[in-house]
Amino acid sequence: MDELIKELKELEELVLQCMKCGTCQAHCPLYQKDLLESTVARGKISLIESVYEGRLENATKILKHLDYCILCGRCKENCPSGVKTDEIFLKAKAVLRKIEKLPSWGKAILKIVMEKPELLAKIAPLMHIGMKFGAKRVKNDIFKPILGSFSKRNVKQIAKKPFSKTHGGFHKAQNEKMEVYFYPGCAANFIFPEWGEGIISVLNHFGVSVYVPEVNKCCGIPAATLGELETYKKMVNENLDDINKRDCEYVITCCPTCQYALSEMGPKVTEKSPNKHFYDILMFLDEVLNVKFDVNLDEKFSLHTPCHYLSPKKANLKKHLEENIQGDFVVLENQSCCGFGGTFNMKKYDDSKAVGMSKAEEVKSKNVKKIFTPCPGCAMQLTDAIVEVGSQATVEHPIVYYAKELKNNAF
Ligand code: SF4
Ligand code: SF4
Repeated sequence: MDELIKELKELEELVLQCMKCGTCQAHCPLYQKDLLESTVARGKISLIESVYEGRLENATKILKHLDYCILCGRCKENCPSGVKTDEIFLKAKAVLRKIEKLPSWGKAILKIVMEKPELLAKIAPLMHIGMKFGAKRVKNDIFKPILGSFSKRNVKQIAKKPFSKTHGGFHKAQNEKMEVYFYPGCAANFIFPEWGEGIISVLNHFGVSVYVPEVNKCCGIPAATLGELETYKKMVNENLDDINKRDCEYVITCCPTCQYALSEMGPKVTEKSPNKHFYDILMFLDEVLNVKFDVNLDEKFSLHTPCHYLSPKKANLKKHLEENIQGDFVVLENQSCCGFGGTFNMKKYDDSKAVGMSKAEEVKSKNVKKIFTPCPGCAMQLTDAIVEVGSQATVEHPIVYYAKELKNNAF
């Protein structure tokens, strides 16, 4: 126990930067929901301090408060003192996890997702069939499964075959001007393969060859959020080894959380750094390729900005949509986090859903029919909430529209 308290005290330098000003309250989606001090970053930081200062003897008691966090990073982004709340929470959880072990369901999921990506890819067709078994089709490829807590959800169908199986390898562009490494991430690999297909066809069209890993290794962030820091480090190391081997300048992602895990938080917890520039596909189209599309939509559409989208680029997302997609663009008043948070959605589904529902209500009331978002986690969460409130809107990545536009108009 003394050793663990010593490890927590190592966070003191980071923790002391918190001036307890409370600015984070206004930005925390969970605090906005239940107004509890233990929910917001300031409260969590005070709890960590109280353990290593000896005011709280049962350290495990605070794990549940640290776990009650979407890890959306809004507290960090809006903190006037620049407190690295994400680093503090991840490291503190890893220390406390040594006392309170991960429940068996968490271990089982991690083992399969992290250590057996080939096995996961092999059983994907079975999951595809199994998910439909007894499930109610809500619309198109959205189902309400019958399994346990999943029965409350409206979930998108799992792909028949993962994207890395169908598209792993090198996709050479005609008139090749450069090559990129495309890291799909688990959600695009299993749930949104059409996003990956869109990325390959659009990049190829503009003379960019695309390499896709034949086995998609998880970025490790689910392990980190569960306090399993060693597993997270292992996944970051394996991915960066693979990425660094490839002779190209850019890594393209379509999941801001994967990008955060591998290029921002990853190098802080491992000794390794990527030797390439990471780019979300939309900013790559804007800033590196300098290309524009002229998609016309005849239905009201809007944008959901993912919390983990690289901060300086967040504002550029709206500009990107305005410049590439013409039509009735509705800016939502609710600019909150969607509430997903990966493992948070698994552990605290009702709290997670409650955060997303308020946004879905606005989508319905404003008769918005399409939500664009460049994050598969947000897309899953918003799809669930939007179906639940009875809206007809669908959630999509703009790249799917760009790929269609190129196919139809070949410009
Ligand atoms: S985390 Fe930042 S915003 Fe929140 S109380 Fe501390 S200093 Fe203020
Ligand atoms: S990461 Fe998000 S949910 Fe967690 S404390 Fe900060 S603002 Fe709240």
